[in-house]
Amino acid sequence: MADDILVILQQEAGKVRRVALEMLSLAQQLRPGQVTAVTFGPDAESTKDVLGRYGADRMIALNQDVFAHYSSDGFAEAVRQIQNAVAATALMFPATAWGKDLAPRVAGLLQAGLASDCTEIRSESNGRLVATRPVYAGKAFATVQIDSPVQIFSIRPNIQSVKETNRSAEPFDCPIDLQALSFQSKVVEVRTQATETVELTEAEIIVSGGRGMKGPENFQLLDNLAQALGAAVGSSRPVADEGWVPHSYHIGQTGKVVSPNVYFAIGISGAIQHLAGISGSKYIVAINSDPEAPIFKAANYGIVGNLFDVVPAVTEAVHRLKAEQ
Ligand SMILES: Cc1cc2nc3c(=O)[nH]c(=O)nc-3n(C[C@H](O)[C@H](O)[C@H](O)COP(=O)(O)OP(=O)(O)OC[C@H]3O[C@@H](n4cnc5c(N)ncnc54)[C@H](O)[C@@H]3O)c2cc1C
Repeated sequence: MADDILVILQQEAGKVRRVALEMLSLAQQLRPGQVTAVTFGPDAESTKDVLGRYGADRMIALNQDVFAHYSSDGFAEAVRQIQNAVAATALMFPATAWGKDLAPRVAGLLQAGLASDCTEIRSESNGRLVATRPVYAGKAFATVQIDSPVQIFSIRPNIQSVKETNRSAEPFDCPIDLQALSFQSKVVEVRTQATETVELTEAEIIVSGGRGMKGPENFQLLDNLAQALGAAVGSSRPVADEGWVPHSYHIGQTGKVVSPNVYFAIGISGAIQHLAGISGSKYIVAINSDPEAPIFKAANYGIVGNLFDVVPAVTEAVHRLKAEQ
Protein backbone atom coordinates (compact mmCIF):
# COMPACT_ATOMS: atom_id res chain seq x y z
CA MET A 1 0.00 0.00 0.00
CA ALA A 2 3.04 2.24 0.14
CA ASP A 3 2.27 3.88 -3.18
CA ASP A 4 -1.41 4.25 -2.41
CA ILE A 5 -3.30 7.50 -2.41
CA LEU A 6 -5.33 7.80 0.80
CA VAL A 7 -8.57 9.56 -0.01
CA ILE A 8 -10.08 11.01 3.16
CA LEU A 9 -13.83 11.29 2.78
CA GLN A 10 -16.60 13.16 4.47
CA GLN A 11 -19.93 11.38 4.66
CA GLU A 12 -23.03 12.03 6.68
CA ALA A 13 -25.51 9.32 7.57
CA GLY A 14 -24.20 7.11 4.77
CA LYS A 15 -24.65 9.87 2.20
CA VAL A 16 -21.52 10.38 0.13
CA ARG A 17 -20.91 13.84 -1.24
CA ARG A 18 -20.25 14.26 -4.94
CA VAL A 19 -16.75 15.65 -4.28
CA ALA A 20 -15.87 12.29 -2.69
CA LEU A 21 -16.66 10.52 -5.96
CA GLU A 22 -14.70 13.15 -7.90
CA MET A 23 -11.65 12.59 -5.66
CA LEU A 24 -11.86 8.81 -6.05
CA SER A 25 -12.12 9.11 -9.84
CA LEU A 26 -9.12 11.46 -9.86
CA ALA A 27 -7.04 9.21 -7.57
CA GLN A 28 -7.86 6.15 -9.69
CA GLN A 29 -6.80 8.06 -12.82
CA LEU A 30 -3.48 9.02 -11.17
CA ARG A 31 -2.64 5.67 -9.54
CA PRO A 32 -4.81 2.86 -10.95
CA GLY A 33 -5.38 0.06 -8.44
CA GLN A 34 -3.78 2.04 -5.59
CA VAL A 35 -6.62 3.97 -4.05
CA THR A 36 -7.63 3.58 -0.40
CA ALA A 37 -10.70 5.45 0.87
CA VAL A 38 -11.07 6.40 4.54
CA THR A 39 -14.55 7.12 5.93
CA PHE A 40 -15.77 8.02 9.38
CA GLY A 41 -18.83 7.37 11.53
CA PRO A 42 -21.25 4.57 12.42
CA ASP A 43 -22.56 4.53 8.81
CA ALA A 44 -19.06 4.39 7.28
CA GLU A 45 -19.36 0.82 6.02
CA SER A 46 -22.65 1.47 4.24
CA THR A 47 -20.80 3.55 1.64
CA LYS A 48 -18.56 0.65 0.54
CA ASP A 49 -20.40 -0.18 -2.71
CA VAL A 50 -20.60 3.37 -3.98
CA LEU A 51 -16.97 4.14 -3.10
CA GLY A 52 -15.82 1.01 -4.92
CA ARG A 53 -17.90 1.85 -7.97
CA TYR A 54 -16.25 5.26 -8.25
CA GLY A 55 -12.64 4.21 -7.73
CA ALA A 56 -11.77 2.91 -4.24
CA ASP A 57 -9.71 -0.29 -4.32
CA ARG A 58 -9.68 -0.54 -0.53
CA MET A 59 -11.71 1.04 2.21
CA ILE A 60 -10.87 1.80 5.82
CA ALA A 61 -14.11 2.39 7.72
CA LEU A 62 -13.70 4.09 11.11
CA ASN A 63 -17.16 3.18 12.34
CA GLN A 64 -16.63 3.75 16.06
CA ASP A 65 -19.15 6.02 17.80
CA VAL A 66 -16.45 8.62 18.55
CA PHE A 67 -16.39 9.40 14.82
CA ALA A 68 -20.12 10.12 14.62
CA HIS A 69 -19.46 13.87 14.73
CA TYR A 70 -16.49 15.75 13.36
CA SER A 71 -13.75 16.84 15.75
CA SER A 72 -10.65 18.56 14.35
CA ASP A 73 -8.10 17.08 16.72
CA GLY A 74 -9.62 13.59 17.08
CA PHE A 75 -10.02 13.08 13.33
CA ALA A 76 -6.56 14.48 12.56
CA GLU A 77 -4.94 12.06 15.01
CA ALA A 78 -6.93 9.16 13.53
CA VAL A 79 -5.70 10.02 10.02
CA ARG A 80 -2.15 10.30 11.36
CA GLN A 81 -2.40 6.80 12.83
CA ILE A 82 -3.78 5.38 9.57
CA GLN A 83 -1.01 7.02 7.58
CA ASN A 84 1.59 5.63 10.00
CA ALA A 85 0.10 2.15 9.51
CA VAL A 86 -0.25 2.17 5.71
CA ALA A 87 2.59 4.59 4.78
CA ALA A 88 0.80 6.04 1.74
CA THR A 89 2.76 8.57 -0.30
CA ALA A 90 -0.18 10.90 -0.99
CA LEU A 91 -3.31 12.00 0.86
CA MET A 92 -6.31 13.77 -0.65
CA PHE A 93 -8.96 15.78 1.19
CA PRO A 94 -11.96 17.65 -0.21
CA ALA A 95 -11.49 21.44 -0.27
CA THR A 96 -14.78 21.84 1.60
CA ALA A 97 -15.07 23.54 5.01
CA TRP A 98 -14.50 20.06 6.57
CA GLY A 99 -11.44 19.27 4.47
CA LYS A 100 -9.99 22.77 4.79
CA ASP A 101 -10.09 22.34 8.56
CA LEU A 102 -8.73 18.80 8.66
CA ALA A 103 -6.03 18.75 5.95
CA PRO A 104 -3.66 21.38 7.48
CA ARG A 105 -3.87 19.68 10.89
CA VAL A 106 -2.93 16.32 9.36
CA ALA A 107 -0.14 18.01 7.37
CA GLY A 108 1.19 19.47 10.62
CA LEU A 109 1.10 16.12 12.42
CA LEU A 110 2.82 14.34 9.53
CA GLN A 111 5.29 17.18 8.85
CA ALA A 112 4.15 17.00 5.24
CA GLY A 113 3.63 19.66 2.56
CA LEU A 114 0.06 20.61 1.64
CA ALA A 115 -1.28 22.13 -1.58
CA SER A 116 -4.79 23.38 -0.86
CA ASP A 117 -7.80 23.97 -3.12
CA CYS A 118 -6.18 22.25 -6.11
CA THR A 119 -7.90 22.48 -9.48
CA GLU A 120 -5.69 19.91 -11.18
CA ILE A 121 -3.29 17.12 -10.16
CA ARG A 122 -0.99 15.29 -12.53
CA SER A 123 1.48 12.51 -12.10
CA GLU A 124 5.14 12.92 -13.06
CA SER A 125 7.18 10.10 -14.61
CA ASN A 126 8.71 9.35 -11.16
CA GLY A 127 5.21 8.85 -9.71
CA ARG A 128 5.27 12.07 -7.67
CA LEU A 129 2.19 14.27 -7.95
CA VAL A 130 2.18 17.91 -9.04
CA ALA A 131 -0.74 20.24 -8.39
CA THR A 132 -2.22 23.34 -9.96
CA ARG A 133 -3.94 25.78 -7.61
CA PRO A 134 -5.29 29.32 -7.89
CA VAL A 135 -3.31 32.17 -6.33
CA TYR A 136 -3.87 35.94 -5.98
CA ALA A 137 -7.62 35.48 -5.51
CA GLY A 138 -7.90 33.36 -8.65
CA LYS A 139 -6.08 35.80 -10.94
CA ALA A 140 -3.28 33.30 -11.63
CA PHE A 141 -2.57 29.60 -11.28
CA ALA A 142 0.54 28.18 -9.62
CA THR A 143 2.11 24.80 -10.27
CA VAL A 144 3.01 23.32 -6.89
CA GLN A 145 5.51 20.59 -6.28
CA ILE A 146 5.58 19.14 -2.76
CA ASP A 147 9.00 17.84 -1.79
CA SER A 148 8.18 16.15 1.53
CA PRO A 149 8.00 12.31 1.36
CA VAL A 150 4.23 12.44 1.97
CA GLN A 151 2.28 14.76 -0.34
CA ILE A 152 -1.07 16.20 0.78
CA PHE A 153 -3.67 17.86 -1.44
CA SER A 154 -7.13 19.28 -0.96
CA ILE A 155 -9.26 19.11 -4.10
CA ARG A 156 -11.73 21.78 -5.14
CA PRO A 157 -15.22 20.35 -5.78
CA ASN A 158 -16.56 20.22 -9.35
CA ILE A 159 -13.19 20.18 -11.12
CA GLN A 160 -13.17 16.49 -11.99
CA SER A 161 -15.69 14.37 -13.82
CA VAL A 162 -16.73 11.16 -12.09
CA LYS A 163 -16.21 7.77 -13.69
CA GLU A 164 -18.25 4.75 -12.71
CA THR A 165 -16.51 1.35 -12.83
CA ASN A 166 -17.40 -2.20 -11.82
CA ARG A 167 -14.71 -2.22 -9.12
CA SER A 168 -15.55 -3.13 -5.52
CA ALA A 169 -13.72 -1.78 -2.47
CA GLU A 170 -12.01 -4.38 -0.28
CA PRO A 171 -12.46 -3.67 3.45
CA PHE A 172 -9.08 -3.01 5.08
CA ASP A 173 -8.80 -3.28 8.84
CA CYS A 174 -6.68 -0.56 10.39
CA PRO A 175 -6.92 -0.57 14.19
CA ILE A 176 -6.93 2.87 15.82
CA ASP A 177 -5.70 3.60 19.34
CA LEU A 178 -8.80 5.42 20.55
CA GLN A 179 -7.09 6.33 23.84
CA ALA A 180 -4.61 8.47 21.91
CA LEU A 181 -7.35 10.57 20.31
CA SER A 182 -7.96 13.84 22.05
CA PHE A 183 -11.35 15.43 21.53
CA GLN A 184 -10.86 18.92 22.90
CA SER A 185 -14.06 20.12 21.32
CA LYS A 186 -17.28 18.19 21.02
CA VAL A 187 -20.24 18.68 18.68
CA VAL A 188 -23.33 18.78 20.88
CA GLU A 189 -25.92 19.61 18.23
CA VAL A 190 -26.10 19.81 14.45
CA ARG A 191 -28.69 22.17 12.97
CA THR A 192 -29.15 21.74 9.26
CA GLN A 193 -30.67 24.57 7.35
CA ALA A 194 -33.78 23.46 5.50
CA THR A 195 -33.15 24.18 1.86
CA GLU A 196 -34.63 22.78 -1.28
CA THR A 197 -31.75 23.83 -3.49
CA VAL A 198 -28.44 22.14 -4.26
CA GLU A 199 -25.32 22.75 -2.11
CA LEU A 200 -23.47 25.71 -3.67
CA THR A 201 -20.00 24.17 -3.88
CA GLU A 202 -21.35 21.16 -5.74
CA ALA A 203 -23.95 22.91 -7.91
CA GLU A 204 -23.70 22.69 -11.69
CA ILE A 205 -25.64 25.92 -12.16
CA ILE A 206 -25.71 28.87 -9.73
CA VAL A 207 -28.02 31.87 -9.86
CA SER A 208 -26.45 34.57 -7.73
CA GLY A 209 -27.76 37.99 -6.71
CA GLY A 210 -26.04 41.17 -5.59
CA ARG A 211 -26.96 44.58 -4.27
CA GLY A 212 -28.71 45.29 -7.56
CA MET A 213 -31.53 43.05 -6.28
CA LYS A 214 -32.49 46.05 -4.05
CA GLY A 215 -34.00 43.98 -1.22
CA PRO A 216 -34.67 40.49 0.17
CA GLU A 217 -38.19 40.38 -1.23
CA ASN A 218 -36.80 40.35 -4.78
CA PHE A 219 -34.79 37.16 -4.30
CA GLN A 220 -38.00 35.33 -5.18
CA LEU A 221 -37.11 36.21 -8.79
CA LEU A 222 -33.84 34.30 -8.43
CA ASP A 223 -35.55 31.39 -6.67
CA ASN A 224 -37.92 31.11 -9.65
CA LEU A 225 -35.06 31.11 -12.16
CA ALA A 226 -33.07 28.64 -10.03
CA GLN A 227 -36.05 26.32 -9.81
CA ALA A 228 -36.53 26.40 -13.58
CA LEU A 229 -32.83 25.59 -14.12
CA GLY A 230 -32.35 23.13 -11.23
CA ALA A 231 -29.79 25.57 -9.85
CA ALA A 232 -28.55 26.69 -6.42
CA VAL A 233 -28.94 30.31 -5.27
CA GLY A 234 -25.94 32.33 -4.11
CA SER A 235 -25.10 35.96 -3.42
CA SER A 236 -22.43 38.59 -3.11
CA ARG A 237 -21.19 39.39 0.38
CA PRO A 238 -23.01 42.69 1.11
CA VAL A 239 -26.32 41.00 0.42
CA ALA A 240 -25.58 38.30 3.04
CA ASP A 241 -24.18 40.93 5.43
CA GLU A 242 -27.44 42.88 5.10
CA GLY A 243 -29.34 39.73 6.05
CA TRP A 244 -31.23 39.58 2.75
CA VAL A 245 -30.12 35.94 2.42
CA PRO A 246 -28.41 33.46 4.80
CA HIS A 247 -24.62 33.72 5.17
CA SER A 248 -24.34 30.27 3.58
CA TYR A 249 -25.16 31.99 0.23
CA HIS A 250 -22.10 34.27 0.35
CA ILE A 251 -19.65 33.59 -2.50
CA GLY A 252 -16.18 35.06 -2.88
CA GLN A 253 -12.81 35.49 -1.25
CA THR A 254 -14.30 35.43 2.24
CA GLY A 255 -17.20 33.13 1.36
CA LYS A 256 -17.65 29.97 -0.66
CA VAL A 257 -15.50 29.17 -3.66
CA VAL A 258 -17.65 27.68 -6.39
CA SER A 259 -16.93 26.05 -9.74
CA PRO A 260 -20.24 25.43 -11.54
CA ASN A 261 -20.72 24.92 -15.26
CA VAL A 262 -22.78 28.11 -15.42
CA TYR A 263 -22.73 31.04 -12.97
CA PHE A 264 -25.38 33.75 -13.33
CA ALA A 265 -24.15 37.02 -11.74
CA ILE A 266 -27.27 39.16 -11.41
CA GLY A 267 -26.99 42.72 -10.13
CA ILE A 268 -23.42 41.97 -9.07
CA SER A 269 -20.74 44.52 -10.00
CA GLY A 270 -17.84 42.02 -10.21
CA ALA A 271 -15.51 43.24 -7.44
CA ILE A 272 -12.23 41.33 -7.30
CA GLN A 273 -13.23 39.74 -3.97
CA HIS A 274 -16.36 38.31 -5.58
CA LEU A 275 -14.50 37.14 -8.69
CA ALA A 276 -12.09 35.23 -6.42
CA GLY A 277 -14.92 32.85 -5.59
CA ILE A 278 -16.22 32.28 -9.12
CA SER A 279 -13.11 32.09 -11.32
CA GLY A 280 -13.48 28.30 -11.55
CA SER A 281 -16.87 28.66 -13.30
CA LYS A 282 -16.91 27.31 -16.84
CA TYR A 283 -19.32 30.00 -18.07
CA ILE A 284 -20.25 33.27 -16.40
CA VAL A 285 -23.42 35.03 -17.50
CA ALA A 286 -23.76 38.61 -16.24
CA ILE A 287 -27.00 40.57 -16.04
CA ASN A 288 -26.36 44.19 -15.13
CA SER A 289 -27.82 47.57 -16.06
CA ASP A 290 -24.39 49.24 -16.16
CA PRO A 291 -22.50 48.36 -19.37
CA GLU A 292 -19.26 49.45 -17.65
CA ALA A 293 -19.67 47.04 -14.69
CA PRO A 294 -16.42 45.04 -14.21
CA ILE A 295 -18.37 41.77 -14.19
CA PHE A 296 -18.68 42.03 -17.98
CA LYS A 297 -14.88 41.66 -18.29
CA ALA A 298 -15.06 38.31 -16.50
CA ALA A 299 -18.27 37.14 -18.19
CA ASN A 300 -18.59 34.87 -21.21
CA TYR A 301 -22.10 36.17 -21.91
CA GLY A 302 -23.63 39.45 -20.81
CA ILE A 303 -27.06 41.04 -20.84
CA VAL A 304 -27.12 44.81 -20.27
CA GLY A 305 -30.51 45.59 -18.84
CA ASN A 306 -32.76 45.99 -15.86
CA LEU A 307 -32.70 42.69 -13.99
CA PHE A 308 -36.35 43.14 -12.99
CA ASP A 309 -37.24 42.80 -16.69
CA VAL A 310 -34.48 40.41 -17.78
CA VAL A 311 -34.70 37.73 -15.05
CA PRO A 312 -38.45 37.00 -15.48
CA ALA A 313 -37.93 36.92 -19.27
CA VAL A 314 -35.04 34.43 -18.94
CA THR A 315 -37.10 32.31 -16.51
CA GLU A 316 -40.00 32.25 -18.94
CA ALA A 317 -37.68 31.32 -21.81
CA VAL A 318 -36.27 28.40 -19.78
CA HIS A 319 -39.80 27.12 -19.04
CA ARG A 320 -40.71 27.48 -22.72
CA LEU A 321 -37.60 25.57 -23.88
CA LYS A 322 -38.24 22.81 -21.35
CA ALA A 323 -41.84 22.49 -22.49
CA GLU A 324 -40.69 22.15 -26.12
CA GLN A 325 -38.27 19.30 -25.32
C1 LIG B 1 -11.52 42.07 2.64
C2 LIG B 1 -12.75 42.04 1.78
C3 LIG B 1 -13.32 40.82 1.48
C4 LIG B 1 -14.47 40.76 0.68
N1 LIG B 1 -14.99 39.55 0.37
C5 LIG B 1 -16.04 39.49 -0.48
C6 LIG B 1 -16.58 38.24 -0.88
O1 LIG B 1 -16.13 37.18 -0.46
N2 LIG B 1 -17.62 38.24 -1.73
C7 LIG B 1 -18.17 39.40 -2.24
O2 LIG B 1 -19.12 39.30 -3.03
N3 LIG B 1 -17.68 40.59 -1.85
C8 LIG B 1 -16.65 40.66 -0.99
N4 LIG B 1 -16.18 41.88 -0.59
C9 LIG B 1 -16.94 43.09 -1.01
C10 LIG B 1 -16.60 43.53 -2.42
O3 LIG B 1 -15.48 44.38 -2.40
C11 LIG B 1 -17.79 44.28 -3.06
O4 LIG B 1 -18.12 45.38 -2.24
C12 LIG B 1 -19.03 43.44 -3.24
O5 LIG B 1 -18.71 42.24 -3.94
C13 LIG B 1 -20.07 44.20 -4.03
O6 LIG B 1 -21.27 43.50 -4.02
P1 LIG B 1 -22.34 43.70 -5.16
O7 LIG B 1 -21.71 43.44 -6.48
O8 LIG B 1 -23.53 42.90 -4.79
O9 LIG B 1 -22.76 45.23 -4.99
P2 LIG B 1 -22.39 46.51 -5.84
O10 LIG B 1 -20.93 46.65 -6.02
O11 LIG B 1 -23.12 47.63 -5.21
O12 LIG B 1 -23.01 46.21 -7.28
C14 LIG B 1 -24.37 46.18 -7.56
C15 LIG B 1 -24.50 46.02 -9.08
O13 LIG B 1 -25.87 45.91 -9.39
C16 LIG B 1 -26.10 46.62 -10.60
N5 LIG B 1 -27.52 46.97 -10.63
C17 LIG B 1 -28.18 47.87 -9.84
N6 LIG B 1 -29.49 47.90 -10.15
C18 LIG B 1 -29.67 47.01 -11.17
C19 LIG B 1 -30.79 46.58 -11.93
N7 LIG B 1 -32.03 47.06 -11.68
N8 LIG B 1 -30.61 45.67 -12.91
C20 LIG B 1 -29.37 45.15 -13.17
N9 LIG B 1 -28.27 45.51 -12.48
C21 LIG B 1 -28.42 46.43 -11.48
C22 LIG B 1 -25.18 47.81 -10.53
O14 LIG B 1 -24.91 48.32 -11.84
C23 LIG B 1 -23.95 47.22 -9.87
O15 LIG B 1 -23.02 46.78 -10.82
C24 LIG B 1 -15.06 41.97 0.19
C25 LIG B 1 -14.46 43.19 0.51
C26 LIG B 1 -13.33 43.22 1.29
C27 LIG B 1 -12.71 44.55 1.61
